[in-house]
Amino acid sequence: MKRLAFVLGLLILARTALSQEPTATLIPNPAHANTPPLPPAVPSPPFAAPTPKANAQAQFLLTPAFDPAAATREWLHSIPADEKAKSDAYFEGGYWLILWNFLITALIALLLLATRTSARIRDFAERTTRFKAMQVIIYAIPYIILTAALSFPLTVYERYFREHQYGMATQTFGPWFAEQLKGLIIALILGPIFLVALYAVFRAAPRTWWLWATAVVVAGTFFFSFIFPLFIEPIFNKYTPLTDPKIRDPILQLARANEIPVTKVFVVDASRQTKRVSANVAGFLNTTRIALNDNLLNQCTLPEIRAVMAHEMGHYVLNHIVKLALFSALSFLVGFALTKAAFDLLVRKYGSRWGVCDIADPAGLPLIGLSIGIYFFLITPLSNTSSRVIECEADIFGINAAREPDGMAKIALKLGIYRKMEPTPLEEFVFFDHPSGRSRIRMAMDWKAANLPNGTFDPSVGKPK
Ligand SMILES: [Zn+2]
Repeated sequence: MKRLAFVLGLLILARTALSQEPTATLIPNPAHANTPPLPPAVPSPPFAAPTPKANAQAQFLLTPAFDPAAATREWLHSIPADEKAKSDAYFEGGYWLILWNFLITALIALLLLATRTSARIRDFAERTTRFKAMQVIIYAIPYIILTAALSFPLTVYERYFREHQYGMATQTFGPWFAEQLKGLIIALILGPIFLVALYAVFRAAPRTWWLWATAVVVAGTFFFSFIFPLFIEPIFNKYTPLTDPKIRDPILQLARANEIPVTKVFVVDASRQTKRVSANVAGFLNTTRIALNDNLLNQCTLPEIRAVMAHEMGHYVLNHIVKLALFSALSFLVGFALTKAAFDLLVRKYGSRWGVCDIADPAGLPLIGLSIGIYFFLITPLSNTSSRVIECEADIFGINAAREPDGMAKIALKLGIYRKMEPTPLEEFVFFDHPSGRSRIRMAMDWKAANLPNGTFDPSVGKPK
């Protein structure tokens, strides 16, 4: 029944996504007629802003309508055909990687169960100590190492060779491999802590564990997003304060206008690993910090940087960490409930063959992983859609804060190096965790076409006259 409802939900969502083709309209708004003409936008061929005329009313009525659909097409046509083909191939290869990653994970889990490797590790843990929490730690360490080692061939293809093949990576194998090892060490510290909490729940509530395990995941998510920028990111990259006032001050101005409590902007040396441009706002309350990567700083103009930073600030102002955590809690709640049903059924059938007793038995961890893995594989379109909706919100916030439609369009083109620019609506629904380049450029051009007035105010006046 649950499965049926889920499939129905997917179909409804798919139809909604398919019908969301943007419409090309520019409705003249008489309210604009009396506002002074906008200052010319940052010049950005091929779409210059309409030339201001002496009479605002005449200007509004006589200026040829800016057609956002045509403008979007022109931006998209500016991409050389070979670059577009390369970006499409890179992104479409990612669709298959979702499948391969899922199959490898499933295969490793089945292997650990069927060969009784999992049961043997559990036996070793039980012989070593009688403390249940310690048994979980002793089981978790070889489990994490084994799964990392067995999936390493796919990892090295996906994150090293493929990134080099498409000209995205900047690291040689040695430093890349050293970073993988650092990641493994972090997993070997945080993984067992998380599993100790999870198995405490399994032992205390063998029937309703799926409910409490969701709470453990939510707590873990918040803990991780709190420590990530403070303790984990600095292990891989260096964060230094941005000192160039020509870039720093406009970013801080944007932050101040949007009530973001920061006094510094950080630059992260991402060019050590990649050529991709990115930025982020992380942390809570007084740990809040804004960071942009050095690729963004070196490859982009100020309007483009303002467009990106305003988007990132949107994530902060709109509480996106909390919204995503709520969505993830809901996904895990359903996923754990289904896992409980699948686990109980499979252990009744194959438990003695695999040497797995019940949910509190660490030897069953690969089975939990397999079940939750299948679930998350199946809901890929839903999790991508929840992320894409949030990214779209940040885009809308960003364009209204930065007022840089051409900067936003140019950034969409730059992100198009690794994200397909013009997917079909179904492709965008299933595979895109951010809006496609076409959707983003169209949003920017729609905003530009609306030609919103700036409003008038006297900066010298601080109180009502
Ligand atoms: Zn974003």
